[in-house]
Amino acid sequence: MTPVRPIRGTISIDEARELLFGAVTPIARSERVALGNADGRVLAEPVVSRIDVPPFDRAAMDGYAVIAEDTFGASASAPRTLRCIESVYTGQVGSSQLASGMCVEIATGAPLPSGANAVVMVEETERGPGDSVRVLTPVYPTQHVGRRASDISSGQALLSPGDLLTPSRIGALAAVGISQVAVYGRPRIAILSTGNEIVEPGQPLQPGQIYDINRFTLASVIDAHGGVAVPYPTVPDTHEDLTAAVNDTAGDDVLVFSGGSSVGERDLILDVIGRMGEVIFHGIAVKPGKPTALGRIGNRLVLGMPGNPTSCLSNAYLLLVPMLRRMARLPEFRPLIVRVPLARRVVSTTGRHQFYTVRIEQGQAVPAFKGSGDITSMSQADGYFEIPAHTDIVEAGEMVDVKLF
Ligand code: AMP
Ligand code: MG
Repeated sequence: MTPVRPIRGTISIDEARELLFGAVTPIARSERVALGNADGRVLAEPVVSRIDVPPFDRAAMDGYAVIAEDTFGASASAPRTLRCIESVYTGQVGSSQLASGMCVEIATGAPLPSGANAVVMVEETERGPGDSVRVLTPVYPTQHVGRRASDISSGQALLSPGDLLTPSRIGALAAVGISQVAVYGRPRIAILSTGNEIVEPGQPLQPGQIYDINRFTLASVIDAHGGVAVPYPTVPDTHEDLTAAVNDTAGDDVLVFSGGSSVGERDLILDVIGRMGEVIFHGIAVKPGKPTALGRIGNRLVLGMPGNPTSCLSNAYLLLVPMLRRMARLPEFRPLIVRVPLARRVVSTTGRHQFYTVRIEQGQAVPAFKGSGDITSMSQADGYFEIPAHTDIVEAGEMVDVKLF
């Protein structure tokens, strides 16, 4: 075993974030995706409309297309009688030219016949004998008409590079007939679980072995925040295996190791990062999650997460999520926050920023943290609140901002 070297100084969570964000480069490559696959992606090109939406003046109500002036003064007791010369349904274009005294029966969404300038709702009319229609109310010009280009006009800038494609923006692209768009590539994040004892779920456990948790928690977080999780086989704790694993991930943007945080192992990952690249920091004053490292190999960032599943996942929330979203050009993540009183006093470690999990029960935050090795510290919690490094005690009844998972 390599001689044990303790973590020397730790840096604060804010310093760690600053170094991390300073080292991150947003993804520059782009790819074309079909509109149906564009949800949640970030646009990489400007989009200018080549058409008017709607492309023609259209009826906004079922009823009769009229010349508004013909209806002036109309009322239930003094209806205006018009002659219906045609019916136009959606997808059709009428052939008639309206003149005074005429109307055209029209469906919502159908093009307004030429000469008409308003629509009378069917509810405001009565069918007379033969082709006559009695109009019971006046309409003003443009009433119940959706004007051509009222939504989007040809030549209008619709979206810009960097815009997040939300359902409504995908709708706007569809409205102008676009079927594919260029979006920024998703950051590919290699997941490397290290440890001789780690095996994949689905296999029988041999003595001394445990199932890989971190690979799955990290992949879920990565996929939820705009990345592509690329899991690799478990890496044994040797220089050779770790070096080979780094080389295997050449096609990925970021490497996230987990494990190797216990003394002895710890130096292995740091040595490998140091030999192949540079270590940017090692050791953060957070709890849990102190043995966390950041490095760079070539132009790839390497995040070394603690092996303990809760530490690994809490650091994924504190560090990996904001980093990933910057790379993916996504807006900052805003978790749902509930402000509730703490049910029991919590004593925090001085000098370490604490990620403290809680359950919400009867409007109170009930401590749920067991230990950093226990995944149920998180799986049986609803969220977490953060206790700043300089705060030692949070009293029962104090209001805390719980960020929900
Ligand atoms: P390490 O950081 O490698 O010293 O691991 C700390 C603790 O976390 C040890 O009990 C490991 O067995 C455990 N551990 C490490 N990696 C994983 C993993 N991928 N899934 C579950 N537990 C792990
Ligand atoms: Mg280990």
